[in-house]
Amino acid sequence: MTSDVRYPVVPPGAGDFRGEAGGEAAAHWKATAAGERLVPTHCSFCGVQCGMYLRVMGGRVIGVEPRNHDINKLRLCPKGVVAYQQVHHPDRLLTPLLRDSRDAPLHPVSWEAALERVVAELRRIQSAYGRDAVGVLGGASMTTEKTYLMGKFARVALRTRHIDYNGRLCMVSAAAANKQAFGIDRAGNPWADLLETELVVVAGSNVAECFPVAMQYFWAARDRGAKLVVVDPRETAMARTADEHVRLRPGTDAAFYNGLLHVIARDGLTDERFIAEHTVGWGAVRDTVAAYAPERVGEICGLDPRQVERVAHLWGRAGRAWAAHGRGLEQHLQGVENVLSVINVSLATGQIGRPGAGYGTLTGQGNGQGGREHGQKSDMLPGGRDLGNPEHRAYVAWVWGIPEADLPGKGTSMHEMVQQMAAGEIRGLLGMCNNPLVSLPNQAVVRRGYEALEFHVQSDFFLSETAARADVVLPSTVWAEDEGLTTNGEGRVIKHNKAVEPPGEARTDWQILCELARRLGAGDKFGFTTPAEILDELRVASKGGLADYYGITYEKVEATGGVFWPCPELDHPGTPRPFEGGRFYHPDGRARFHAVQWRPPAEPPDAEFPLRLTTGRTVAHFLSGNQTRRLPGLVEQTPRPWIEVHPSLGFGDGDPVRVVTRRGAVTYPALVTEAIRPDTVFVPYHWAGPVAANVLTVDALDPISKMPEFKVCACRVEPGQAVDPVPEPPMPPGERPYQPETAPLGDRRSPTSPQGRGTSEG
Ligand code: SF4
Repeated sequence: MTSDVRYPVVPPGAGDFRGEAGGEAAAHWKATAAGERLVPTHCSFCGVQCGMYLRVMGGRVIGVEPRNHDINKLRLCPKGVVAYQQVHHPDRLLTPLLRDSRDAPLHPVSWEAALERVVAELRRIQSAYGRDAVGVLGGASMTTEKTYLMGKFARVALRTRHIDYNGRLCMVSAAAANKQAFGIDRAGNPWADLLETELVVVAGSNVAECFPVAMQYFWAARDRGAKLVVVDPRETAMARTADEHVRLRPGTDAAFYNGLLHVIARDGLTDERFIAEHTVGWGAVRDTVAAYAPERVGEICGLDPRQVERVAHLWGRAGRAWAAHGRGLEQHLQGVENVLSVINVSLATGQIGRPGAGYGTLTGQGNGQGGREHGQKSDMLPGGRDLGNPEHRAYVAWVWGIPEADLPGKGTSMHEMVQQMAAGEIRGLLGMCNNPLVSLPNQAVVRRGYEALEFHVQSDFFLSETAARADVVLPSTVWAEDEGLTTNGEGRVIKHNKAVEPPGEARTDWQILCELARRLGAGDKFGFTTPAEILDELRVASKGGLADYYGITYEKVEATGGVFWPCPELDHPGTPRPFEGGRFYHPDGRARFHAVQWRPPAEPPDAEFPLRLTTGRTVAHFLSGNQTRRLPGLVEQTPRPWIEVHPSLGFGDGDPVRVVTRRGAVTYPALVTEAIRPDTVFVPYHWAGPVAANVLTVDALDPISKMPEFKVCACRVEPGQAVDPVPEPPMPPGERPYQPETAPLGDRRSPTSPQGRGTSEG
């Protein structure tokens, strides 16, 4: 039966998403009930960085309201609405902790005693074994000011070459490919440009669970008629709505995109004018993709060759197309090349730098972009400068007031540092804002590295699994207790505001670093008393670099709702579309093609391990789970990990399934679903201890980015005895795990509940 009823459909306009249709000023502070303040800020979790108000009364954060910010337009996701519950959580660390010997328990001490021990141990190790025997590991959820200070602290106060950060697990493959192809590590467009596209290609990202609020841009594009292609081995929530769901085998991405370009070139769908005027290297790529006929690609990827043809024609014939990718593409042995293979298609079709013609990675961590630009990466100085470049070194050394010769050289990546810890090359470690004893692959190796340390100090606001094994733990602040900048996945610099004072004796990480530097004899270089003072130095240190923040101030960010870098001058408006007009950041202004050959993953399946294990996120949890595994609503929603298996493997829902790799075995409850390939199984990675997915994963690294291959390793599955229990999060001495009366932490929820349909994206 048909209906004559016609519902009015008013597709949203791009202007609605660009803030042209009104909305609140970014710096809008207001109050509602007597004594209540609404503090404008942004979410602490993912790279979308949604705007929110924290409701503050009597010095406490009592709730949250979404904010009509250009990014999120009044929307928040399940994590965003409970982020505030971290602030006064009973598990917060309130005092420094110290253990008297490796086997002794942690106990509360004064800041004086804790810092004295830290400085004495770092000094002892450096004088006995050399400066590089101490390492520093940072994180990309900190503000940009803090990440800048991490790099400066390692290189000026400790003078060690060994500093890296947990963005190594998240964004570095995209960053390296962007730099190679475009000459700069930036997304091509603001997300509002998505509304003007005709085709969206999502490569290895389940946007609906990892970046839920970003979905509004994709849906709005769909409302306006855009086609959707999702490339993912699993039928994620987004894939279920796609015009083409490309369910490729994990570890075959580069072959697929080479296959698309083969068809596009063969059928005359390249943009020859764009290639001739704005790029270098097309000939070698054209010759390379000639060997990737759809039939061969179908064999490699486990696809129908006709789908390769269909997607290639969609992309090649689209007037405006957009490529967005996530960890499903990037966390591979050839993660950089995978990204380059996507960029090759965007460049060959001229689909970049215009409204609707866009490109970009969806950054996983809140400050995934800003956290990698200003010096906590092992090869990088502030402003995206290169630690191996004499001119860059000289400039930053001048800003820091040190001889260039005192600046250490390049260090190694996060997982390589852990291996150096196990080998006795790094004997002391300062960790901030990371949890490698959950997040790094091949946990047996990681554990050996940490166990081998002579001294380990970790700062955090909860006692993470990594902090729990440290010799000294320093209590730090949550995002609502400090101010500073972050940069979201679009390249938009936004500002977090302070809502309340830190609890107990907690201090911000920048205060901790400044005090340690003073005690290490470098206090004159770390005399900062506010984040604004750190930003002022950062702006100068970045000036003239690729990631130029010189023109970005708190006032400007608050007045505009965000400034897109590069922003080289105070009167510069920022750069929402850095590749507009086909201008790129290599010296000749042209983008670079890169010929990519598909290579198999580090562990192809074999007779003993015939399946592929892939890992990723679920909507209720964030990264290593240190923050979300303590929030009752999120634990209720998704209390434990599971394994997704295809019905052809013969298990029933909830059956204990033992998954075995060359590194370990874990027994999870089964979620039996046709949403996964028969040759692939999936486990979410947010949990610790015996159920950690990273007990299983392989620590093969991309040779360029050094990103681990989280997205594929060989495994087998077999019937298990009983599912492995989920450990409680570590607690401060004398405290018991938080047990809310109305929301017991247990396994009440069936693993087959909708949340069980996780994601292949991380
Ligand atoms: S989408 Fe990301 S930034 Fe927005 S509320 Fe959710 S977790 Fe926070």
